[in-house]
Order: sequence, then structure tokens, then C-alpha cells
Amino acid sequence: MGFSYKNQILHAESVAITDLMKAYGSPLYVYSRTDIENNWREFDQAFGAHPHLVCYAVKANSNLAVLNVLAKLGSGFDIVSIGELERVLAAGGKAGQCVFSGVAKTVIEIERALEVGVRCFNVESASELSRIEAVARSVGKQAPISIRVNPNVDAKTHPYISTGLKENKFGVDMSDALNLYQQAQNSKYLNVQGLDCHIGSQITEVAPFLDALDKVLLLLEQLKDKGIDITHLDLGGGVGIDYEGEQTIDIKAYVDAIISKVGLTEIILEPGRAIVGNAGIFVTKVEFLKQNSEHSFAIVDGAMNDLLRPSFYNAYHQVLPINEKNTTGVQAQWDLVGPICETGDFLAKNRALPLSEGDYLALMSAGAYGFTMSSNYNTRPRVAEVMVANATHQLVRKRETVAELFTHEHVWHTPTKETI
Ligand SMILES: *Cc1c(COP(=O)(O)O)cnc(C)c1O
Repeated sequence: MGFSYKNQILHAESVAITDLMKAYGSPLYVYSRTDIENNWREFDQAFGAHPHLVCYAVKANSNLAVLNVLAKLGSGFDIVSIGELERVLAAGGKAGQCVFSGVAKTVIEIERALEVGVRCFNVESASELSRIEAVARSVGKQAPISIRVNPNVDAKTHPYISTGLKENKFGVDMSDALNLYQQAQNSKYLNVQGLDCHIGSQITEVAPFLDALDKVLLLLEQLKDKGIDITHLDLGGGVGIDYEGEQTIDIKAYVDAIISKVGLTEIILEPGRAIVGNAGIFVTKVEFLKQNSEHSFAIVDGAMNDLLRPSFYNAYHQVLPINEKNTTGVQAQWDLVGPICETGDFLAKNRALPLSEGDYLALMSAGAYGFTMSSNYNTRPRVAEVMVANATHQLVRKRETVAELFTHEHVWHTPTKETI
């Protein structure tokens, strides 16, 4: 576990968070390198000798240092934009180990992906297949493709992060996939490689994954009957983590269940949250305590622009004090709210804690969809990110300055003779 109390002070590995706050200021994202490595290895090692590639989903946390740590382990990457592809390459990842997901790949993105030679395009519609074919023809290359199917299974997760139901925009219906594969098989610019699905995120039971897999395997048989050979199955990401004491998936059991069903077919997984979620925290400082007859507000220096998940998904993050024992604080049921001018600007609600102004608090399990979903709303510079390994810490993203936030903007320039 990367984060634990030692002498009543919360530590990241062997480094006291209080030392990090002194060195880097508040608010701050802190990542445990050891946790990231161990989480990735847990997936990788669960496969044993079975052919596989663990493609970390970059959108969960795309900091170059995180990508570089994973690239060094031999990780593949699941990317959803040209920006993520360039990050992976800059961090030392291999294009040949990238799968390119996303519903709306542009011509420019497809060209670049073909130029660097991504492992596979996960195709999400008939129109996209045609576009990929046209771009491949224009550059004289063959595009490796998988079709992302929508298995129509209920992942029993938050509606915003459920993707495998017919009402979701992702993938193509199982019934349409056969035609698309035949079309792809007949094109000399497309190279059919895999079959792909991704049913949602923060899934805490194995059953929806295995339901989806069963449906995908039926399609695989139908494809085989038509002479279409699928060499890999990409089962997406979505493995949930423990935010609130929830039962989570045993990775080894999950992978064993997959292997028992798929014969020798190579498996690709795209975990994001499960690699980095618990490997990061967001630390914020209590600026003011404000109590009225109904509510107790702890106004902190972090806000919804820094950590959007509570506002956006009503997500829960455990709140831990950096100093475990605060004997002089005010005991109450606190709402942690930020400085942003929105009622929806909260990080946590109704937490029983003894608090004092000036305290530092950690929002746990903030390593995934934390910094990557942050914005500059209210002209707030994005916070610094720090990585810790054992007793060493390094800044992996500098805190933005206010001046940087409007450097690309210009006031209206009135020409000397403005024409009407
Ligand atoms: C978001 C996403 C993932 C990662 O999901 P996690 O829940 O973070 O594991 C994987 N694949 C695709 C296609 C995605 O959109």
C-alpha cells in the first residue's frame, strides 16, 4: 500500500505528506510509483504464459512520468486521441503496443497513427471503418483493425460510465458486426486483427465481463465460419477499485475466468482506473471553517476544477487527515467545499472529522480521472503533480502560473482603418 500512517502522519511510501506540502505547496496530486508498478504487474502476471498485452488506458492519468513507468515495464497503451498517442511516444511507449479507441477518429489522427504504426484501431462505426480505409488507401498502407461491438450488457455502474448498453454511443450492435467484418475482410487496405468490447468503468463484479465475453465468443465463432480469422480479443478496461470499502474484483480470478473461455486467442485488456486509481491522492488545505445552524463547511483550497469526480459523478473519495490525531479540532459532519462559484463545487459531504483551519486533508484514490479531468475554471492554475518512490520524490508536473493561463489569448485588435 503506497499510502499509510507512520508516526500518525500520512505518508506516500516513506515520504511524509507534510514534507511534500512544504516542498511543493497546496493543492497537490501525489502518486506512488510502487503502487502503479504493482497494479500493472498484477494484471500482467495473472496471464502467466497465455498470450496477452495489458494496454494501460491513458485517459485515466496521462502524466508522462506515469506513462514512462509503465512503458518501462513493457506496458501497451489504450489511447483515444492523437494527443494521447504523442504523450505515449514522448514517454518512451511503443506505437506497436498502442490500441486506438474512441468514437470519432479524425483523418489527421488516423494518418498519424498509420505513420507511427499503432498496433490496432478499435473501430466504432461503419462510417469510421470507411474513413480508416480511405486514409489507409491514400497513404498506401494497411490499417490493422478490430470492431468494437456493443454486447448490450448492464455493467451495473454509474450511468455516465456505462458504455456497453444499446443506449450508449459506443461500439456497433452485435448484429451489424458481421457485415462490417466482411467489408473489412474484402478491403486490401484493412487488416482484420481483433474483436473489441468495453462495457463501462468502475465495475465491481466479474459477471458483467463474463456475460460480455460469452456474447463476443459467439460472434467469434460466426466469424470463423465465414473464414474471418480473429487473432486477438480486446476485452477493454473497467475493473473497479475500492473507493468506499466496496468489494472489488480479484484480478487473478477474473483473468483465469477469461483464459478458461478463450482457448489460445491472445487477450488484450485496457485497465486504467485499476492501475492508477488507488496509486494517487489529492491533498488540499483547509482555509476556513464556516458553520451555520444547518451545515458545517470546511472551505478548502482544492476545488471541482482540480478533482471533478465528486461534482460530476457524485463520486465518493475517502478523506483522511494528514495528521492522524487532531485533538484540538472542531468535531462535526463537514462538507468539504472549494472556492469556485458553483454550489456543485464540493469534494466530499458529511464527513465526521475534527478539523482546524490550516489542516491538510487527503482525498484518497484520486490517481485516476483526477488530474486528467481538471480544468482552469475560475482561472485557477492546474496543480502540481509529484511522484514518490520509496524515500524519493520528484515533481512530475509543475504547478501552472496564472500568466500561463491567458498567454494564448488576445484582446480585440482595432485596425487603424476599420472598414464597415
Ligand atoms: C475509459 C476506457 C478504458 C479504461 O477504463 P477504466 O475503467 O479506467 O479501466 C478502457 N478502454 C476504453 C475504450 C475506454 O474508453
